[in-house]
Amino acid sequence: MKRFIFIGLIITGLQAMADYDSLFYSYSLRIDYIHSGTATEEYFSLAGMKQEPYWGGSTQKLVDTFGYGTHMAQVFDSLGQLIYSRGYSSLFAEWQTTDEARLLARSFEETVVIPYPKNRIRLIISSRQRNGLFIPKFELDIDPDDYFIRPAIRPQYEVFEVCVNRPSDQAVDIVILPDGYTSDQIDLFKEDCQRFTDQLFSFEPYTSLSHFFNIRAVLAPSADSNIAVPAEGFWPETILSSNFYTFDSERYCMSTHHFTIRDLAGHVPYDQIYILTNTAKYGGGGIFNFYCLSSARNLQTAAIIVHEFGHGFAGLADEYYDSSTAYSEFYDLDTEPWEPNITTLVDFSKKWELLLEPDTPVPTPDTDDWDGITGVFEGGGYSAKGIYRPARDCLMHTFRNSVFCLACYQAIEKMILFHAD
Ligand SMILES: [Zn+2]
Repeated sequence: MKRFIFIGLIITGLQAMADYDSLFYSYSLRIDYIHSGTATEEYFSLAGMKQEPYWGGSTQKLVDTFGYGTHMAQVFDSLGQLIYSRGYSSLFAEWQTTDEARLLARSFEETVVIPYPKNRIRLIISSRQRNGLFIPKFELDIDPDDYFIRPAIRPQYEVFEVCVNRPSDQAVDIVILPDGYTSDQIDLFKEDCQRFTDQLFSFEPYTSLSHFFNIRAVLAPSADSNIAVPAEGFWPETILSSNFYTFDSERYCMSTHHFTIRDLAGHVPYDQIYILTNTAKYGGGGIFNFYCLSSARNLQTAAIIVHEFGHGFAGLADEYYDSSTAYSEFYDLDTEPWEPNITTLVDFSKKWELLLEPDTPVPTPDTDDWDGITGVFEGGGYSAKGIYRPARDCLMHTFRNSVFCLACYQAIEKMILFHAD
């Protein structure tokens, strides 16, 4: 019986590969757009398309099976068949929950990268509404032979291979980008890339599954050293223009120069972008299938790296609920959030319910008796009430203990295997 199942899997795999080869080339199509609006309105405006030299994603798992993210990009063939999809989140969607978004309109650069189609396609980008449902917001018919699709002609930088274990279509490919390293500091950046890799792989489940990862870095120098701290009037000229005080939150460090980020990332095949900034100041950020960023040198860097990568790679939510963020009412308490590690108990069966022992009370008392136990603890997702997390502590909550809770652990493991199988 086992043999038949095994043969079935092989045929399925070959079929997926044949599907990919009949639908797509081995390189990618990058669609740049401007995402603009206010707290209640949003607009997508095409900024341009580029042919990128590599496709770093799976050739087997063409359709998204997670349903994570605040946006969903779907690609349909001329018969209306879904041939590719991926969920992702955006800085714009986070900004929409800030007080500023109620006062003015802003615009953000965003990009969708898909395998380069062999035939005409329709791209549809949908945004998740407060009730959890996706609504189409942007539709674009694309002719792959359109002569306005630009080739990726731009300055080329050297690539540093930190570790390459597998073919890109069977690996989690991380590209590390530098910000605030001058040409004299490239060796320092290479040391920071090695330390990033050692630190990421020092946390489970990354340690046990490190052979599924490829990590490459693009050696692109900045004119000035360090990165911007607006509240101190410090604005060095750096290649990715990262800055602290994103949404006026000191430790939230991000870059809004998304097209430049993608220009650098396109030097190699990639699934995930991680920006290391040349600073010892504490901070960072991570957005699902968008990019992650953290300070390269800080005593807490190891924990920050896996925390931010938890957001960017596995779609994990923050399990903390203090008042340190700029968000107000980030989650609708009447809707089950999409992230795998928080719940409003609206639809808990879709979350970590199966990990609970039968005698664990829901909600679970937040007392020492329940330390290290998987439960349903009130407080998470920037709210002390109405949102629940899987454990008293986790790397998505504090950096006191260097472990993920079981729900986060399994979510990360599942995402690694999605890329690697
Ligand atoms: Zn967790």
